[in-house]
Amino acid sequence: MRTPVIAGNWKLFKKRAEARELVNGLVSLVKDVQGVEIVVAPVFTVLAAVKGALDGSAIKLAGQDCFWEEEGAYTGEISPGMLVDAGCSHVIIGHSERRQYFGETDETVNRKIKAALKAGLAAIACIGESLAEREAGTTFDVLRTQLNGGLAGLSADDLKDVIIAYEPVWAIGTGKTATDAQAQEAHAFIRGVVSELLGKPAAEAVRILYGGSVKPENIKGLMTQPDIDGALVGGASLKADSFAAIASFS
Ligand code: 13P
Repeated sequence: MRTPVIAGNWKLFKKRAEARELVNGLVSLVKDVQGVEIVVAPVFTVLAAVKGALDGSAIKLAGQDCFWEEEGAYTGEISPGMLVDAGCSHVIIGHSERRQYFGETDETVNRKIKAALKAGLAAIACIGESLAEREAGTTFDVLRTQLNGGLAGLSADDLKDVIIAYEPVWAIGTGKTATDAQAQEAHAFIRGVVSELLGKPAAEAVRILYGGSVKPENIKGLMTQPDIDGALVGGASLKADSFAAIASFS
């Protein structure tokens, strides 16, 4: 049985007061939700404030990125151990926006995943094809390449602390969700590749989240698919009521 995960990626939104307000609302709206791991990923500067507001709640805290070195002369970076120190249990790695705007590659994603695991964080590793890649019929090749590169050198045991997020780039922030069937097809493919790489038990156990215009209206259909184990939510995670409705899908 895979415990579902509903994670909110706040991206570059919410200063301290807004973040506190959002999380206070969320804590009370999801206090009776059971059997779902709920995670929020604010910007670094509000991690401490959000951690304080989460006190006593089961909601978990994530960073949106981390560097692969623990410390050193790396201006502007943040290390996995620093995220742990700020109260994080999770970190998002390799989001398509980081790949698109900040030059992340499968190799940097791989280094970051390894560093995150070493520091004791669970890594939410993002993959997904662009519109051009989908239209060219190369979706599966792209996903296989991203998995091969991103998970290189990891063991089946390491995978216990990895959550894969499938986010088709064309569905992010566009209002265009993949259909339930499109998402399921990609998730089943991803699980198959993980099985080839790390064995069937690891593949059966790994949680694979869908991301891309997830809303209260479409979460139920997605969650009824056998290989969809949760969601990585952007826009709809910025409002307590919509994120709580998504987390209460069952
Ligand atoms: P939206 O839910 O806004 O489409 O964003 C998805 C996403 O990128 C989550 O990481």
